[in-house]
Amino acid sequence: MAGTLLLGGCAPAPDIWGNSLPPAPQVTSIYYRTETPAATFTLLPTTTLLPTKTFTPTRTPIPTTTITPTPSFKSIKRVLIVSFDGLRPDAIAAAPMENLQKLADGGAYSFTSDRTIAYPATSPSHASMLSGLCMEDHGVIYNKYFMYMGYSKGVDIFDLAHEAGLRTVMIVSKDKLRQMAEPETTDVFEIAYGEPAIVRAVLPQIDEGFGLMFIHFAGADNRGHKYGWMSGEYLKILRDGDEAFGEILKSLEENKLLDSTLIIITADHGGHDKNHIGLIIEDYRIPFIAYGPGVVQKELTLPMYTMDTAATAAYALGLPLQPDWDGIPVYEAFGFPQIATHEKDPCK
Ligand SMILES: [Zn+2]
Repeated sequence: MAGTLLLGGCAPAPDIWGNSLPPAPQVTSIYYRTETPAATFTLLPTTTLLPTKTFTPTRTPIPTTTITPTPSFKSIKRVLIVSFDGLRPDAIAAAPMENLQKLADGGAYSFTSDRTIAYPATSPSHASMLSGLCMEDHGVIYNKYFMYMGYSKGVDIFDLAHEAGLRTVMIVSKDKLRQMAEPETTDVFEIAYGEPAIVRAVLPQIDEGFGLMFIHFAGADNRGHKYGWMSGEYLKILRDGDEAFGEILKSLEENKLLDSTLIIITADHGGHDKNHIGLIIEDYRIPFIAYGPGVVQKELTLPMYTMDTAATAAYALGLPLQPDWDGIPVYEAFGFPQIATHEKDPCK
């Protein structure tokens, strides 16, 4: 509140010397200025706020009432074994092979502890992979198919599956793989060269249904011998193979077979420079990926051998494990105790 003080006075009285003193101030009146009412500010409407974007929750809440049971080991009705010829485990990340990596991430895998037999060549090694036997027992001692040598000996996974009435399919990229299983035990045997041809051969077989299927991609081995293992050309064909495998996965899914199929991905050998003659560990080391119902997510670190693939497939299909097999099922891939292990190389 502001006010104005007005001062006024009368004539000054003389002092003792007769001089006039300055007039004494005297308050005459006090006026207060009438307060002018302050202007009332009418608040102008500020800019009308535009509605912000409707917030869309990014994560759909997981319904708590519906729980989809995880398919168990017992749901396995068929096995798909895929062999990438000459696939080194470290090439999966380097390529990258995204579908294989996805399966490894969601399943049980070994990138360091699985290996092939002492003669790391295509025919002897694939024979061990599918027969569960060391080379001396299956008799495929040459990396070439000589008709007179006959088929891989012993009871292999195709013998067992066919005997059990399962539909058996082999789609391979090298004709010498005919030696791995007798024609009587393979309902379908096709040779397809190149990734797209393999996919074209495999998809109708998935549509038709199968109990055991073996698919063989040869591209990486061919490129490895020509350009070198881990070369750009080698890795490129592995990416193509991974893409082809992705189409196979999609087909399994579309046929609603994915939650009852055990998939095993592996290789016959690795390689270095332009060979895989067994000079260094990279020639022997192979990947093993198991993915499917009941398979637990884990890295497998115990020593494994390629013969374990046949044994694991038989075990998963409920087929009788053969007493003379050198392979042991990878029980721990299904979360079971590994009741038997390889204390030493079973082929030595
Ligand atoms: Zn090979």
